[in-house]
Amino acid sequence: MNTATSPLLPSPGAADTASTALALIRIVLCRPSHPGNIGAAARALKTMGLSRLVLVTPKLFPDPEATARAAGSQDVLEAARVCDTLDEALDGTVMSLALSARKREVGPPPLPAREAAAALVDFASRPDEDGGGEVALVFGNETVGLSNEEAMRCSRLVTIPANPSYSSLNLGAAVQLLAWEVRMAAYAGRPPESTVATPFSSPVATFGDVEGFYAHLERVMIDSGFHNPDQPKRLVPKLRRLFARAGLERDEVNILRGLLSAVEAKMSGPGGK
Ligand code: SAH
Repeated sequence: MNTATSPLLPSPGAADTASTALALIRIVLCRPSHPGNIGAAARALKTMGLSRLVLVTPKLFPDPEATARAAGSQDVLEAARVCDTLDEALDGTVMSLALSARKREVGPPPLPAREAAAALVDFASRPDEDGGGEVALVFGNETVGLSNEEAMRCSRLVTIPANPSYSSLNLGAAVQLLAWEVRMAAYAGRPPESTVATPFSSPVATFGDVEGFYAHLERVMIDSGFHNPDQPKRLVPKLRRLFARAGLERDEVNILRGLLSAVEAKMSGPGGK
């Protein structure tokens, strides 16, 4: 398959644009009380390709619990900026979205998380002269959430449309969910996967490799009496569908052809027909 021109895959420059946008997104935690949630947030960021964690007057930080929960994301945790006020945390941003599980009496209705992530990435991807720049997602304290004062500082409220009868997520879980939505938005639904090769994998078989295999297979099926070409029915299309689903690699085609050759040799040798 020619991957460079496939409409199913993002264009080569798309990954750069996405990581540039992700680098402009701040995740702000207002007054977090549990250091474990700070560590969980750092991990949530790193797993989704984000890196900018900002803490507004955390109760305990640094803290061993945060370090333990951050696991392999110590770099994000260590680079976390600690601020005295939300204003300081939002300084220089062009858009900030306040995450709240609660309905507020003032302001427009909250944006659902998925739309919010798309809007945020859109701003982070635009050039400065088009209103783009740094953006922030702002999360509240575990017990009391965001104050009205804090929510009003932000451009818009956002809600995770969770179970209406129990919609309050753990802070770390809420950060993870938004970080995921932002990643999906940045990569237009197709984030890159790990490039680590699967053990034993080989290059994908070409059109010629696969057609050569089908011709060989058909020959052996006919010669062995398994397939009657005068009554083709659906055998060949069905087998083609089976192998197409497998996404054959070159090594696999070679193995299959080796097997067919061995069968052919047996058939034409002593005792064969
Ligand atoms: N008891 C608090 C909830 C705190 S949960 C309250 O009533 O607001 C900690 C933070 O996680 C919240 O301040 C919010 O930023 C985020 N969060 C949790 N669940 C959410 C949801 N369903 N929608 C949006 N944000 C949510």
